[in-house]
Amino acid sequence: MRAEILSVGTELLLGQIVDTNAAYLARVLSDLGVSVYRRVTVGDNMDRLLAALRSALESSDLVITIGGLGPTMDDITRDGLALAFDDTLHLNDDIAEGLRKFFTKRGMPVLESNLRQAMVPTDGRAIENPNGTAPGLLFEKGGKVGIALPGPPNEFIPMVDNFVAPYLRRKTGNIGTIRSKVLRIAGVGESLVEEIVKDLMFDANPSVAPYAKVGEVHLRVTAKSDTVEEADALIEERAKLIYERLGSAIYAEGDDPIEKAVVKLLAERSETLSTAESCTGGLLSQRITDISGSSTVFMGGAVVYSNAAKTDLVGVPAEMIEAHGAVSAEVAQALAEGVRKRFGTTYGVGITGVAGPDGGTPQKPVGLVYISVASPDGCEVDEVNYIGGRATVRLRASQTALNMLRLRILKSKI
Ligand code: ATP
Ligand code: MG
Repeated sequence: MRAEILSVGTELLLGQIVDTNAAYLARVLSDLGVSVYRRVTVGDNMDRLLAALRSALESSDLVITIGGLGPTMDDITRDGLALAFDDTLHLNDDIAEGLRKFFTKRGMPVLESNLRQAMVPTDGRAIENPNGTAPGLLFEKGGKVGIALPGPPNEFIPMVDNFVAPYLRRKTGNIGTIRSKVLRIAGVGESLVEEIVKDLMFDANPSVAPYAKVGEVHLRVTAKSDTVEEADALIEERAKLIYERLGSAIYAEGDDPIEKAVVKLLAERSETLSTAESCTGGLLSQRITDISGSSTVFMGGAVVYSNAAKTDLVGVPAEMIEAHGAVSAEVAQALAEGVRKRFGTTYGVGITGVAGPDGGTPQKPVGLVYISVASPDGCEVDEVNYIGGRATVRLRASQTALNMLRLRILKSKI
């Protein structure tokens, strides 16, 4: 089955909002084995909408529209689809009644325009929208299918999951299950991960696909089968192979960020942590304290932005800063050891660097960061050179620190 996604809205066309819905839908469709033939965006203009719909129906079996189902004049998708499908719209009494109740309950007048949302195709039907007033619409004629979904993501996404996906599974005879699992990897770059699992990426079932994120890579393993158990077994077998190849570079599965993995490891070992951050300005401690339960392992941190703070709060010798500069391996190590001692924790982390965009020199360019982890076994320092703006450099530095810490806790190297 071939599909086209048609996003409707001038805001989308002009880039005032990003089309996250279309990206979500495209992923769901391809996971279902529906081939996404084209993605198009049109403004709120009937002539252009109609031209786009007709063109979509010429080349595809299915067109799914996003947005433009509201009550206002610029919401034209409903009428556009009726014209393209040569269908008519009529008022659905149940939906109209529901809308009347909805507005009355909130003390709002029921306007004629609101009732446009109760108009449904004669040869099709409405699609339930539990999170909004505008139902979706299904048009079916001559083997072609049109599905209209509302724009707000909190309405759109559940309708894709609960209506579109099951509907298409039935329609394509694809009644099996698709399951997937994400393996989260830190400390190995995207190209290297790809190199390591390249042979697995040629397989269609289970499939393995890498996604690069800031400072980490996610591998999504997806399997299709008749039953959940079979699909999960395929995934497990493939995941086992990936674990054998990537080992401790895989820090978690699913949605958990690396800070959560770190907090968990510390809690399991009853170990503690403190941080001394310069260029990251507290980002590392924020990420750790974002995790509930971190209070048992995170004792505290210092944002030591000035040289004086580095000396006064965590005891970095002023002469050391003088001799090597605040951005140096020596100072990073002194920060980690100093804060570890000050808080009496198992681990101490020190970060110092040039986040940019100003402040770089030929010897110490923007993006140069020293990260150190002090532990009962000693202290290690990493020198890294990041590319990117201020926010990216800071985020990457906090990411590297978390991964160094994780590996130190595991006492392993990749
Ligand atoms: P409403 O009843 O709210 O008017 P609608 O179906 O007419 O719903 P739109 O008016 O097109 O939808 O969009 C409503 C809002 O939903 C937009 O302002 C935007 O915030 C969000 N939205 C619309 N389309 C998308 C999209 N493709 N991706 C992400 N968000 C979107
Ligand atoms: Mg609207």
